[in-house]
Amino acid sequence: MKVNLFINNEDVTTEHYEEVRDPGRLSEVVGFIAKGDPGYIDRAVQAAHQAFHFWRQNTLNERMSILLKSAEEIEKNMSSIASVTAKENGMLLGRTIDEVKLGLMDMRTIIELAPSAFQQRIIEDESGWVNVVKRPMGVIACIVPWNAPIILTLQKITPILLAGNTIVVKPSPTASMGVVTILKTMAEFFPPGVINVVLGGGDVGSALTSHPLVRKISFTGGGSTAVAIMKSAADTLKGVHFELGGNDPAIVLNDADLNEVVPKIVEGAFRRTGQFCFAIKRVYIPYSMYDEFYEKACEFTDSYKIGYQLNEEATMGPINNQLQYQRIIELIERLEHSGANLVKLGKQLEPENWDNGYYLQPVIVRDVDPYAEIVTCEQFGPVLPLIPYHTEEEVIHMANNSEFGLGSSVWSSDFDRALDVANRIEAGMTFINGHGQTPLGSKYIPFGGIKQSGIGREKSIKVFDEFIEYHGINFHKKGIN
Ligand code: NAD
Repeated sequence: MKVNLFINNEDVTTEHYEEVRDPGRLSEVVGFIAKGDPGYIDRAVQAAHQAFHFWRQNTLNERMSILLKSAEEIEKNMSSIASVTAKENGMLLGRTIDEVKLGLMDMRTIIELAPSAFQQRIIEDESGWVNVVKRPMGVIACIVPWNAPIILTLQKITPILLAGNTIVVKPSPTASMGVVTILKTMAEFFPPGVINVVLGGGDVGSALTSHPLVRKISFTGGGSTAVAIMKSAADTLKGVHFELGGNDPAIVLNDADLNEVVPKIVEGAFRRTGQFCFAIKRVYIPYSMYDEFYEKACEFTDSYKIGYQLNEEATMGPINNQLQYQRIIELIERLEHSGANLVKLGKQLEPENWDNGYYLQPVIVRDVDPYAEIVTCEQFGPVLPLIPYHTEEEVIHMANNSEFGLGSSVWSSDFDRALDVANRIEAGMTFINGHGQTPLGSKYIPFGGIKQSGIGREKSIKVFDEFIEYHGINFHKKGIN
């Protein structure tokens, strides 16, 4: 498979192509992706800028209808999109199919919310007439990471396009084939220049974020990249919308039913091999339940079958890329040297293929210092520290003592008690007896974090505010000063 840039609804070939290897079978090449540069960024931004002048003229209903048609077309191509994404990304095939389905569900939910978000409000009294109009901003730069590329792209671009903006998307080099396929599928329904894609790494990303015609940057990724983006946006005073990393705590209360909650907590940590922003990254357990929780967590973790992402028996796939793989190995090595009490679990499905992919066994760490590196960092891999606590005050203090504030969860048999703890957590989102959004939560909860976990929100009706400008028009009535 050869993937080109996509500018003004045309495939654009470049001089250089990068090989993409399968992270679960490094001996296999999945395809080649074009490498952009600042010149291609300029072409894409100019195309999006031109297209903005007529795309914004469409009515909201027209834009909604185009997006709905493109969602139908993505659905028809679901299996080919999912299989290329799983191969380049390392995510289990079943989970990747779910990801496309969830991305489409989010897309349709956001479309459904648009009419009330854009409702016109005209106010009048004896002195004058007021209309506050919601206008699109212009060209929006959309930068996405590798870990959940389809869902993150769809939930990001849907409200941006609905608002009447045009986009230049830069996917991650280790997860771009599926994203480009989706964006090209969608672009068939849009006028040329509304959707553009340029591929490449940080250099291409920074050419995009510093381009003077880009009005806002919507970025999902790591905190240090967000800092670089904010600096590059400063020269032209662009707005930024950031969805960043997390260090989500799970707080188990002493009335929780461990048989029920332990498998859910471990899955909340190790789904996608631990590579998702709101994965559980640390678990707090009352001293009285600590040993029992540990035994049950080890038992459940040991049931993971780690193997090739297209192997139907696998329940845990490889790590997406070499850099991340190395980071987690070094983190585990430092833990071992520190004398930490850790255990590697799970079964290797295809031991002969183990060194041909970025495979890791999931790790449970016990008796860990509450402020050890493994507790305070965003490990973004299958390593889970268990921390004991005595009192609710103590655990809330430990949970909040973090520079992150994305998700969090409370586990209890008593709703009122759990709610009281939830209300005292500093985070963008708190889940009770689960770690993630239910369909209702997915529609109404603004997705995102506080502190260094982000600026702004995705999903829910709140998302539209990120990508519009307000234009107030005030008519002065005759004879009134
Ligand atoms: P990353 O920050 O390394 O890269 C993200 C994207 O930014 C990639 O497309 C990359 O090429 C691009 N990029 C890199 N340098 C750039 C620069 N200087 N200017 C512009 N673009 C640049 O992140 P990653 O490793 O791909 O993803 C993992 C991180 O993303 C984790 O921290 C994770 O928590 C976070 N994340 C957050 C959310 C959320 O919604 N809060 C969701 C998923 C992932």
